Amino acid sequence: MLSDVYQRLYDQLKTSIPEDRLIHDDLRTLAYGTDASFYRYVPNLIVKVESEQEVIATLQACRGLGLAVTFRAAGTSLSGQACTDSVLLVLGDKGWHDHAMPEDRSEITLQAGLRGAQANRLLAPFGKKIGPDPASIDSAKIGGIVANNACGMASGVELNSQYTLKDIRLIFADGTVLDTRDEHSRQAFRSQKKDWIERLQALSARLKGDPALVDKIQRKYKIKNTTGYSVNALIEQDDPIKMIQHLIVGSEGTLAFISDVTFATAEEPSTKATSLMLFPDISTMCEAVLILRQCPVQAAELMDRLALRTVEDKPGVPDHIKTLGPDVTALLVETAASDEAGLAANIKEIGEKLQPIAMAHEYHFTTDPAETAALWTVRKGIFPSACSERPVGTAVIIEDIAVPVESLGDCLLELQKLFEKYDYRNCVIWGHVFDGNVHFVLTPDFSDTSAIEKYKTFMTEVVDLVVDRYDGSLKAEHGTGRNMAPFVEKEWGPEIFAVMREIKDIFDPERLLNPDVMISDDPDIFVKQFKPMPAAHEIVDTCIECGFCERNCMSNDFTLSARQRIVIWREISELRRTAPDSPRLKKLERMYAYYGDRTCAADGLCALSCPVEINTGLLIKDLRAHQTGGIGRFLAGQIGGHMDRVTGAMRGTLGTVDRVHRLLGSTVMNGLARGTRRLSFERLPQWNPSMPGRADVVRPERAYYKGVDRIVYFPACIARTMGPARQDEPQLSLVHVTENLVRKAGYQIVYPEGLDKLCCGMAFNSKGFRRTADEKAAELEEALIAASEGGRLPIFCDTSPCLHHMKQTLDPALKLYEPIEFTLSYLADRLDFEPLGETVALHAVCSAKKMGLEDKLVALAEMCAAEVVLPDVNCCGFAGDKGFSVPELNAFGLRKLKEQLPQGVRQGFSTSRTCEIGLSLHGEIPYQSILYLVDQVTRTKE
Ligand SMILES: Cc1cc2nc3c(=O)[nH]c(=O)nc-3n(C[C@H](O)[C@H](O)[C@H](O)COP(=O)(O)OP(=O)(O)OC[C@H]3O[C@@H](n4cnc5c(N)ncnc54)[C@H](O)[C@@H]3O)c2cc1C
Ligand code: SF4
Ligand code: SF4
Repeated sequence: MLSDVYQRLYDQLKTSIPEDRLIHDDLRTLAYGTDASFYRYVPNLIVKVESEQEVIATLQACRGLGLAVTFRAAGTSLSGQACTDSVLLVLGDKGWHDHAMPEDRSEITLQAGLRGAQANRLLAPFGKKIGPDPASIDSAKIGGIVANNACGMASGVELNSQYTLKDIRLIFADGTVLDTRDEHSRQAFRSQKKDWIERLQALSARLKGDPALVDKIQRKYKIKNTTGYSVNALIEQDDPIKMIQHLIVGSEGTLAFISDVTFATAEEPSTKATSLMLFPDISTMCEAVLILRQCPVQAAELMDRLALRTVEDKPGVPDHIKTLGPDVTALLVETAASDEAGLAANIKEIGEKLQPIAMAHEYHFTTDPAETAALWTVRKGIFPSACSERPVGTAVIIEDIAVPVESLGDCLLELQKLFEKYDYRNCVIWGHVFDGNVHFVLTPDFSDTSAIEKYKTFMTEVVDLVVDRYDGSLKAEHGTGRNMAPFVEKEWGPEIFAVMREIKDIFDPERLLNPDVMISDDPDIFVKQFKPMPAAHEIVDTCIECGFCERNCMSNDFTLSARQRIVIWREISELRRTAPDSPRLKKLERMYAYYGDRTCAADGLCALSCPVEINTGLLIKDLRAHQTGGIGRFLAGQIGGHMDRVTGAMRGTLGTVDRVHRLLGSTVMNGLARGTRRLSFERLPQWNPSMPGRADVVRPERAYYKGVDRIVYFPACIARTMGPARQDEPQLSLVHVTENLVRKAGYQIVYPEGLDKLCCGMAFNSKGFRRTADEKAAELEEALIAASEGGRLPIFCDTSPCLHHMKQTLDPALKLYEPIEFTLSYLADRLDFEPLGETVALHAVCSAKKMGLEDKLVALAEMCAAEVVLPDVNCCGFAGDKGFSVPELNAFGLRKLKEQLPQGVRQGFSTSRTCEIGLSLHGEIPYQSILYLVDQVTRTKE
């Protein structure tokens, strides 16, 4: 229930924003309200906006009612600046994704909802990138990157948003729009907002007129600094419009909404070399840093002894690290150049200059991509490793300080003493040393109230250390948030802090934009509203709620993302312990059945981008396993035990439905099927015009010829059941096509004994029927061991998801292949390819992505067609049979498919029959197995 004032807001907004984007239920306000910080604020109302008009409508309505608004991009913020208990204005999934670049790609205009890595993908073909490079760049969105002034390992201060931002389009709290690249907009703004301009000019004059303050600001921005407003804008710029543009950088949504930005692009060097340098202690490392800063080095990443310990067993970490002393400190150093000769010169120069420095071990630079990737994986693995080793139930706090590089060594030693004093163990330290910027992790258990008091006094000492002793930044790159808001005055002093207060007062006098962030009157705001992290399930207990999984989660923006599933499961688990009879628990459980469970495709793609490798799909499967009742388990057992009859019956049904479809046509059939499904309360599967007909029965050969190579072919039960759909060409079952192809390549096919009864068990497993799944896997393993002569012959399965499941469950000695790798490894050399002179579309199914086969799919298709297009589609959401039972999930998963298919594309190819049904339906062209394409364009090699 919305309270009175939020109900009034809702009623106003629903006249301009569809109600399904005005969210206020218990489950989604908690889920969508969560960000990566350790604070918990649950919004009253969430507004998903898709256009500037909707932003303006929301801001004006909130202003009229005196309600606070917080903007949200990807929610990866760590300092408590992307959460609220009032109105959360979230960038929707449809708008905010446009970009524009001039011919020379010297700049790029990006709307606020694009992720940083998407921008870099657009620029990569031209050897360019955007300047800011936070470690979260794959997930973080442009709005959040600019509003936090986020940066990372290579950007330093020079390439951050502040110094690479050319223009910006803003919406202020009263709905005023300013587009700094548009002369009309600038003029209109100047005349409408005369008082703002005058006040800013006065502030600028006040600062510029005081040399001590100018000196302080310049000194403090030599290193990274995101504490308070970017007051350097007031001394570096003369034009008030430019001042505003630069003040917005790092303003954390407290001054205006960012609609789009134009960045000057940076060069992406073409060659790089990386070295892991080990020094005997922190002080020696700091001496080396001062030298390296004078060298052509683009990144230098610190890892202290504890940090190294957390990763010393990981692949790519040299063995000798374990044997080194207790104070050893590492730097991961990267140098880059535009050609090989330049790179060699860089390495030589670094070597010569570092000669006087004592090393704990000799070092070398590598250009080998695998070795380089392993080293960077180690560096990036420090934070997740530290998190995954923490006790269950504890919070994760990453601090983010910077001090002048010359003082870094002393500061780090004092920091370590503070850890000891407060008995904070295992506080790993790492960071970007050229900027004097280090991070450290604390993992307190805030369910114990004394831990809050301890954290408070510890932080007060850290503040004293960083500010009083080293004149450093309390937040170097993660933003002030609520976490450092009480200490902004301490860091900047009363004069500059007064300027910051006035900045807020100019643009947001009612303090409605993200209150308590950046500037707060509450000295204890940083120790309030800690997020509970209760134990919930061993699969997800290490989750830090960072949100990195969301970009890969197909149900993100539809129902819940992987992170949000975990957040709600944590809440449900806690309520089951503390308030088992509460109506809130019942409500959350009821909603979770759809939002958490039914709409999870269980594809596990979330694990690919999770720093601690959590597969939330496994959580959902486990919950399903616990829900399966006796009758369900009995039925699953019956189906598993009679696969031959079940597949036979399904073939019969598909054949009958197909005949009816032919008779009635798609329109009548669609209407009939929808009506029947509605009458069954959505229990009957949803028919669609891309529905397959029956597959032909597989008739295995029994006689084998001597001297002819053999392979084992296991057609998945889906391929044995589902034949071509009405629009498919040729009208042949996949098994026929495969047989033809394999024989063309000169192989004999060995089918496993008892094929009709075999199944990999995946379908049972994903529904939680583990026992039947295990039984089917065991049967299949036995049959494949026999057919492959104890694992000697390669085994081919025509369906990627089944093969992926087999790889996880069957004897690792079996040589298992799915269509892409099998064709490339066994067939391609024996066939002549005559590529089609047209463009074909591809879809890499989740299991192919998880097996790293996306590039190989493209390579194979490129052998078969003049051009290949791989639309940017995540998991399609068909998820075995969810395309029938929860068709809206499939429709959401493929909502952007059609628009990405170029005109004239006639055929699409993939490696999973069920996914192909949804792809055909929503792409509006037939999708078939890639084997159809290979068969179409090949003949036996002459
Ligand atoms: C594991 C991990 C590693 C990280 N590493 C780094 C790092 O290396 N460097 C770094 O700098 N940061 C890092 N961060 C912090 C964070 O990812 C970045 O600050 C990131 O830029 C935030 O972007 P976002 O899209 O998630 O924004 P959000 O968190 O959604 O929002 C960030 C801020 O911007 C405001 N905002 C959002 N959209 C708009 C808009 N359109 N207009 C105005 N204001 C808006 C929000 O109100 C909020 O105050 C890391 C975070 C995590 C979890
Ligand atoms: S599941 Fe992984 S990626 Fe997702 S929020 Fe948790 S830790 Fe982050
Ligand atoms: S399994 Fe798929 S749908 Fe489910 S949480 Fe993970 S990515 Fe999202």
